[in-house]
Amino acid sequence: MGGSNRMKMIINGNLVNKDKKIKVKNPVNKSIIDTVPHAEREDAKKAIHAANDAKKAMKDMSSRKISGILYDIHHDLSKIQDEFAVIITKETGKPIRDSKFEMKRSLDTLLFAAEESKRIYGETIPLDAGIGGSKILGFTIKIPMGVLSAITPFNYPVNLAMHKIAPAIAAKNTVVIKPSHKSPLAALKLVELMTPYLPDGVLNSLTGDGKVIGDEMVTNNLVNKISFTGSVATGMSIARKAGFKKLTLELGGNDPLVVLDDANIDNAVSAAVRGSYVYAGQVCIAVKRIITQIGVVDEFTDKLLSETKKLKLGDPLNPKTDVGPLIDEEAALKVENRVKDALNEGAELLCGGKRNGAFYEPTVLDKVSPNMELVLKETFGPIAPIIRVDSVDEAFEIANNTPYGLQASVFTESIEKAKKAVKSIDAGTVLINKQSTFRTDNMPFGGFKMSGMGKEGVKYTVEDMTCSKLVIIG
Ligand code: NAP
Repeated sequence: MGGSNRMKMIINGNLVNKDKKIKVKNPVNKSIIDTVPHAEREDAKKAIHAANDAKKAMKDMSSRKISGILYDIHHDLSKIQDEFAVIITKETGKPIRDSKFEMKRSLDTLLFAAEESKRIYGETIPLDAGIGGSKILGFTIKIPMGVLSAITPFNYPVNLAMHKIAPAIAAKNTVVIKPSHKSPLAALKLVELMTPYLPDGVLNSLTGDGKVIGDEMVTNNLVNKISFTGSVATGMSIARKAGFKKLTLELGGNDPLVVLDDANIDNAVSAAVRGSYVYAGQVCIAVKRIITQIGVVDEFTDKLLSETKKLKLGDPLNPKTDVGPLIDEEAALKVENRVKDALNEGAELLCGGKRNGAFYEPTVLDKVSPNMELVLKETFGPIAPIIRVDSVDEAFEIANNTPYGLQASVFTESIEKAKKAVKSIDAGTVLINKQSTFRTDNMPFGGFKMSGMGKEGVKYTVEDMTCSKLVIIG
């Protein structure tokens, strides 16, 4: 990517710049990587109008053509995926290995959408089973929703954008997307790459203050559907304002990893390491609470400690780095304070616990109580807090002791305990012997309780981004 001031928004097929800029900073050292336009409410209105005007062009396009376009974009994007990975790492501080993996998954998401665009079916309705319905033919057709407002968070700037843009296009919708002001570069570049393939106005991007342009994207009456991924607080404010619009909310998580007495401890330890520290724990489905039964807690803790100490904290562009910085110093300070409070309330620090700018060391805490803020709230940092429990029932009760319910994992070798976990734990996904960070891009992903509403995963997103129109032929 070129020097500063290169990235622009796209509205109605045109590159758009603004005199006022947002500085995008490298979390490693706060240096300015680039600037992006600071859009105003008027720009959001223009983008929404452009998307509205483009609805007809999308509606008239054949599914075959749309599928071909998505395959072509896949082909082009795959050639420059490493370039994208570097941008992701620079703007988010994500270790380059993980940014490359995000790009692989983004391409997979795109491929699923190219495939799905050819199998959007309605159904036949047996009207003759109802009173007066004999000799009358009934079937549904799937039609596009119309204009989609897509709002994404800082942590997976390409794949979360892709989870909204690609299914929206597959289902013949038009899109206005707003990435986080903290990491907008890769998403803007993605829109720039896709735009030449699409009629003007089908895909528009905006950068600016979420409270201003996001508000327009949520309240404008031309918008038919809002797809939001981000924090519970923002999700709630969107839900209050959205009015009569279809809403998908993919919000925060506080995922437990339960280690029962009969678990394979080595597997549980590698799952905890992967789950707690990936992208410095700034993942909605990161392992945020490790609930361990007393019979294995010492063995588990010793092994977790030894694996944690092997992790390399440092420059995220170095392929050997396991843990990079948090998104900014403010985020690291928040984690530092939560850990300090937990220690003051009786938790034991086994390793880590130090902050340097936006960097926070991978940290293992033992004897964490389920009532500490560190585990009651979503703590977005590289923390492995161990909560000791006596019984299976207590473990599942604590797993549910949260307003969140995204994913939850349980390590056990017993099929009976696994079945009990599936029945007892209130989460959108229960994983047995696999950590909660596991996700493929075709699975129905989405949480219960305050973790959101609706499912993402290409087939499910496409379903969510279409309406059923009933046709009756007398
Ligand atoms: P955030 O602060 O809620 O921001 C998310 C997006 O909302 C940003 O683009 C933000 O814009 C925008 N926004 C802010 N205020 C808005 C408003 N009033 N109206 C409309 N949009 C508004 O979240 P974040 O800190 O970027 O991301 C972390 C959170 O996302 C965590 O809670 C994490 O668990 C969650 N998350 C969930 C999933 C999932 O799939 N369930 C996946 C990833 C992350 P600006 O910030 O640019 O102003």
